[in-house]
Amino acid sequence: MARALTMAGVGKNDKIQNSYGYGLFTGGLGVHYGGHKIGATVIPISAGNTKRQIEIMQDFDTTILTCTPSYGLYLAEVAENEGIDTNKLKLKAGCFGAEMWTEEMREKLEKRLNISAQNIYGLTEIIGPGVAMECSSKTGLHIFEDHFYPEIIDPKTMKQLPKGETGELVLTTLTREGMPVIRFRTHDITALNKEVCECGRTQVKMERITGRSDDMLKIRGVIVFPSQIEKALLKIEGLEPQYQIIVTRPNHLDELEVQVETTTAFFSDEIRHIERIKKDIERKIHNEIGLRVKVSLVEPKSPPRSEGKAVRVIDKRNF
Ligand SMILES: [Zn+2]
Repeated sequence: MARALTMAGVGKNDKIQNSYGYGLFTGGLGVHYGGHKIGATVIPISAGNTKRQIEIMQDFDTTILTCTPSYGLYLAEVAENEGIDTNKLKLKAGCFGAEMWTEEMREKLEKRLNISAQNIYGLTEIIGPGVAMECSSKTGLHIFEDHFYPEIIDPKTMKQLPKGETGELVLTTLTREGMPVIRFRTHDITALNKEVCECGRTQVKMERITGRSDDMLKIRGVIVFPSQIEKALLKIEGLEPQYQIIVTRPNHLDELEVQVETTTAFFSDEIRHIERIKKDIERKIHNEIGLRVKVSLVEPKSPPRSEGKAVRVIDKRNF
């Protein structure tokens, strides 16, 4: 992680505002210890409480911001609404990861926060953050090949794909002790570029992640599987496990709506009862995934049926 931060220009005089979540999520503590290894100051603010984040950014003269890209944009928006001139902040770079993002988002982050926005990649099963990081050329993420051996496979045939082709990233740890990981399927879709980078580094580069080979979703950095939503729905009597998950990103923050099918008997019931059921579903899903979602009850048979695999997720975010 320290090396990843160095690639974003972090040195011992920097102040890192670490707005990744602390706790069991590896993002927070990963950046924290990496920052300390460099000798930088780490502000362990964690995620949330956005107005306070901005005050701290001003009071502490934060130079590096680490958070999800969507939260970075939200911070910029709140700062603008508070009438703060973001050009006056001391921020110079941001390490953004833990969710998929785009070049358009990079442009916005760089312009609105007046920083260099760099992509960072990692996963809990391998080491946490710092498996790969973008250098200043921003043409892909260098994988730290002295620690991780990458391969790209076809997720259907499980065979390795030829050089440069897009497929699923598989990682093997080379130096991890205690629990080495051999050919771990990340389910993340990318391609590898082995050409020497314009920055001079010879480490292989991976393209930014463009999708998943399974149905996993990342909502505000939190991993969500449709099966978890299903599990919550099955706890409620009288509900069909017919549902659709709609993911949007209004105002740069992920929103999750779950449309749940009801039975005919259910709809003839009084409004108050329906509202209570809705709240009950929201609470049960929250307990399951740890995120607040909006639940809409839809008429019987209205979610479209599929002849093959049910379409459970409609992701309207633009990656
Ligand atoms: Zn490079």
